[in-house]
Amino acid sequence: MSSIQDKDFGEVVIRRSAWSTRVKCSVATSGKLTITVPSGTSDFLAKRFLNSMREDIKKKLPVKDPATQRARDAQKKILMKKAREYLPYRLEFWATKYNYSYTNVRLTHANTRWGSRSSSGTISLNIGLMKVPEPLRDYVIIHELAHINHMDHSAAFWQEVGEHDPKYKRHREQLKSFSPGV
Ligand SMILES: [Zn+2]
Repeated sequence: MSSIQDKDFGEVVIRRSAWSTRVKCSVATSGKLTITVPSGTSDFLAKRFLNSMREDIKKKLPVKDPATQRARDAQKKILMKKAREYLPYRLEFWATKYNYSYTNVRLTHANTRWGSRSSSGTISLNIGLMKVPEPLRDYVIIHELAHINHMDHSAAFWQEVGEHDPKYKRHREQLKSFSPGV
């Protein structure tokens, strides 16, 4: 095995296989592009294969561009730091104000949900909340706190949310234009 540096794909791993009769491309779990070539193929020749397949690979394979990936990781770190210094205290603020009790708070970075409440009383909040305006953030926190008294999204649940966030309908609608993923 050897590897080459590529302007589009970053580090590309070259795997040589005695059984391979043609060139194959795949993406490893690390996100690195791997090309498999017949044994005895030089790096120089592998590079030429890569060049000839470049456009096809870009279209077909979800290769992570290393620079984009690094930027994303850095953003996640910043959001996590901000979230740690803010969300637990904001949750505590609303919980105290409206007399809710929860056992634990967890910060997540799932791509699909802003928050959740487990039956054991843990409230999870997505660090992506640090990207949205404060009233929307508060809406999510109040939403999760209201789940302490109502497990479902019944009329009684929404009434309780509305008592603490009278503009919840608008906030809920506005939240749809943001994505929790980093
Ligand atoms: Zn809910």
